Amino acid sequence: MYFTYEQPEFDLNDLDEIRRVIAEAYENGREHTSTGKVADYIPELAKANASDFGICVKNMSGEKLSFGETEKRFSIQSISKVINLAASLKFLGFRETFSHVKMEPSGDAFNSILKLDLASDLPFNPMINAGAIQVMSMLSNFMDYDDLLSFSRAFCMDDKIMLNEEVYCSERDTGDRNRAIAYLLKSKGVLQGDPDKTLDLYFKMCSLNVNAESLANMGLLIANGGTNPFTGKHIIHPGYIRTIRSLMYTCGLYDESGEYGVLVGIPSKSGVGGGIVASVKERWGIGTYGPALNEKGNSAGGIAALQHMSHLLRLNAFC
Ligand code: GLN
Repeated sequence: MYFTYEQPEFDLNDLDEIRRVIAEAYENGREHTSTGKVADYIPELAKANASDFGICVKNMSGEKLSFGETEKRFSIQSISKVINLAASLKFLGFRETFSHVKMEPSGDAFNSILKLDLASDLPFNPMINAGAIQVMSMLSNFMDYDDLLSFSRAFCMDDKIMLNEEVYCSERDTGDRNRAIAYLLKSKGVLQGDPDKTLDLYFKMCSLNVNAESLANMGLLIANGGTNPFTGKHIIHPGYIRTIRSLMYTCGLYDESGEYGVLVGIPSKSGVGGGIVASVKERWGIGTYGPALNEKGNSAGGIAALQHMSHLLRLNAFC
């Protein structure tokens, strides 16, 4: 952790310097993988290699800097919550989406059920399981898996994204906590679709196979206001991107979002598969992969690398 407020002067046009800093960030991230452990509550995830680490940074011209495991595919897990939210905003709109889910950080673990029963009928935000299941219940009424898959491919500028069948079956077979969330929402009359259909789509979205580059692409699309910078195709309206970035910033790392916001300060989203997507407005998409997670379920190496980069390249949104 950096305790200093001193940041060196930096020329963001100096590509050699940037390469050097990202290489250092990679080393830093790789070292920190030893402080975490892979998720095992979804048995298939326990097969990941805890010391794997990779980082991919891409700019609007398509130049990319990749270090380590950036091609290996892994399940997107909670990063799919960003795609679900994007689909809901695009197809249902802001007002309808946020009539059924709030936009407050929960301060609880990603799979917590506590606030749902004690504090509010509506889930706190779309970046935690309860909120993403709620969003998926809305989408399930008019989108099927194939629709969501093609939207995900467009959103990540990656046509090779496929379902990881093993992870999907593992999620489905062990997803009782998510079932409890869906049925609690149904019991309150809040869930907007059939619970089993909703859960099936939710599990499938968590089980899409991405790599660090797909995540860098997703970050880049968000950084570019929702337009694919290479084809010029508009995927989602810039106004919705503002909402997505805000929620990534305030809620993207669950109950570590506040600390991450101070120490890294880049709108980001993590997943228990080990990925983190980060989006530097008008500049870069960043994807990291490191399946060794800290106690909050966020990639230990990814956080270390992003903190390093953010500090030295002054990427904090409030810098
Ligand atoms: N599929 C996971 C779950 O629902 C996603 C959680 C995560 O990535 N934090 O528990």
